[in-house]
Amino acid sequence: MQDVLRENLAEINNKIAEAATRAGRNADEIKLVAVSKTHPGAVLREAIAAGAKILGENKVQEAEAKINEIGRGAVEWHLIGHLQGNKARKAVRLFDVIHTLDSVELAARLERICKEEKRAKLKVLIQVDLANEVAKNGIKEEDLPKLTEFLRDCECVELKGLMTIPPFFEDVEMVRPFFRKLRELRDEIIPNGELSMGMSHDFEVAVEEGATLVRVGTAIFGERNYKASGF
Ligand SMILES: *Cc1c(COP(=O)(O)O)cnc(C)c1O
Repeated sequence: MQDVLRENLAEINNKIAEAATRAGRNADEIKLVAVSKTHPGAVLREAIAAGAKILGENKVQEAEAKINEIGRGAVEWHLIGHLQGNKARKAVRLFDVIHTLDSVELAARLERICKEEKRAKLKVLIQVDLANEVAKNGIKEEDLPKLTEFLRDCECVELKGLMTIPPFFEDVEMVRPFFRKLRELRDEIIPNGELSMGMSHDFEVAVEEGATLVRVGTAIFGERNYKASGF
């Protein structure tokens, strides 16, 4: 498994480097978040041994079990799934970066918890819903100013950039305008901030459009089996 993971990571890093070159970017600006959701701790350990520096998990409960098993400091842990208010304290304890801040209410809660937990700084990205999809999480573009204004007064919660999950299109070129839009918003709100965008099937387009964090699961770990995972 470790050899397969090492090969997959190398292949993705090559593709990232090629996409960066096409866009006249430096590949060093781009970090790979290996999305390990549904995979057991043993596989995550192998991914770390194979060179993964950041692991992405989408559920607090599932991540908690694995982080306890592998170690909070063994790798950088990123939360990439929706965060419910009642899981915020655990998230503050478990994660280095939260990609999915999507309301003033959640920001206020995270700020209060950081103070209680004596966590001096918590890096967050705002998840923006660019497709106006009712079922998707993320804040609407028109509600962004309220949230960024609130974050300006936070001492602990630190806005580092933006994240989005575009709708799925078979043709990845259809996704490009969403990535471009997120970059434009980033340039307005937090110049030089992080851009978390791109998954297995579209990360090269995301890199061409400025992604600094790509979230890749299937292309590293293979297909997910939600039933067998137990999560
Ligand atoms: C699962 C997930 C990914 C990874 O998706 P793949 O298609 O397996 O690469 C990326 N981002 C988020 C938010 C996810 O939930």
